[in-house]
Amino acid sequence: MSDKTPLPPGSTIGILGAGQLGRMMAMAASQLGYHSISYAPPGDNVAADTCAELFERQWADREALSEFASRSDVVTYEFENVPVSAVSAIPGDALAPGPRALEVAQDRLNEKRFVEDLGGVCAPYARVDSDDDFTRAMERVGTPGILKTARDGYDGKGQWRIASAHEANGVRFPGQGCVYEGFVEFEAEFSVILARAQTGEVRFWDSTANHHESGMLVQSTLPAGPLVEAQVEAARTIAAKVANALDYVGVLTLEFFATRNGPVFNEMAPRVHNSGHWTIEGAATSQFENHIRAICGLPLGETTTRFAEIEMRNIVGEDALSAHAILSEPGEPHLHLYGKREAREGRKMGHVTRVRHEAP
Ligand code: AMP
Repeated sequence: MSDKTPLPPGSTIGILGAGQLGRMMAMAASQLGYHSISYAPPGDNVAADTCAELFERQWADREALSEFASRSDVVTYEFENVPVSAVSAIPGDALAPGPRALEVAQDRLNEKRFVEDLGGVCAPYARVDSDDDFTRAMERVGTPGILKTARDGYDGKGQWRIASAHEANGVRFPGQGCVYEGFVEFEAEFSVILARAQTGEVRFWDSTANHHESGMLVQSTLPAGPLVEAQVEAARTIAAKVANALDYVGVLTLEFFATRNGPVFNEMAPRVHNSGHWTIEGAATSQFENHIRAICGLPLGETTTRFAEIEMRNIVGEDALSAHAILSEPGEPHLHLYGKREAREGRKMGHVTRVRHEAP
């Protein structure tokens, strides 16, 4: 049990990272009477629109980070690649989730070992630190497979698919620590998103079926279908063990492949997740609100799904320029645009959630 008293309205939440997740977190915080400030290196920091102040400074600027921490009643993150050295400038009890979650989730090898130690199943994998390791890894794990940078990858970046050892001749070891994974013949992909309170209480949202293109999430749907539904319980058991082992406070996401042999863990994100954006309209309490509630010591809200069918679709690249047309659709399209200035290819510009009250 935590002996912390809830943060009173008017308190300030410091968010490390200033992308769309921080933007939506700050919206939820504001509804509960909190102010938000955010911190990120210069860039298209769209959380600036919803935060009272943006510290646009480098992660290595410890003085700015200390000033940011001193202005915040609690500090959280919307981005798992915040350097652990940067969060060491934040007093330990002010950071939620804690630094250990970042350490584990920043490195694919760490997170696989962590989940395996708790009884989770991963695809076969091997560490790769050189061209020779890469050759040995392909022999040991087999092909097809995927070479992934151990750190800093996202949305399919830092990944190379290897169809055969012959094809691998064309792929050079990228010169940074990697992991080579066997290709999983999955039937579907899904995520488990949970909120864990300071008291240790854990609540789960329904698991969506997630559809990716070129390694990037494009669509999440509910119901997820019998294949995924049959595996959610086992995946939740692992996710809860991870959250408890980290004494996690906030929203945590674990991604899984649904296979013939049960759920195979892919990766975790110590934060709110793209596959949980549907919860804004589709659940009794959104992932953003429950994250804020958890880190501020408030009771968690119900996570029940409110509709018979839900589809969340990302709006990527140039599609954002015509996205307002979605507002003329029949039914209940809920459009969210992130206010990004440049519509680059493969860039998440917004999302739309479509709901149906009754299944057809
Ligand atoms: P990741 O960045 O690890 O989440 O990978 C992005 C996407 O690539 C996943 O959601 C899958 O669609 C695909 N993928 C990643 N690793 C594997 C794997 N070992 N086997 C099959 N597909 C994979």
